Amino acid sequence: MQLKKQCHQCQTEMIPDCRVTIEGGMYGIKISRKGGGLFRRASAKPKAAVCPECGYIALYLDNPSEFIR
Ligand SMILES: [Zn+2]
Repeated sequence: MQLKKQCHQCQTEMIPDCRVTIEGGMYGIKISRKGGGLFRRASAKPKAAVCPECGYIALYLDNPSEFIR
């Protein structure tokens, strides 16, 4: 389930689920956070949402709750 994302600039509904990659390579970027123990580590590949109106992009994660703690 996914909430609709609105553009922060012009409030147009954004297009979600776009892939984030670095130009020139096959790698995307990754967001991670070190936790307390060995297995307490959250990491995620962000997705991007694009505003078709003004071109604003927003990065977001599908499971941000993994980052709690
Ligand atoms: Zn916009």
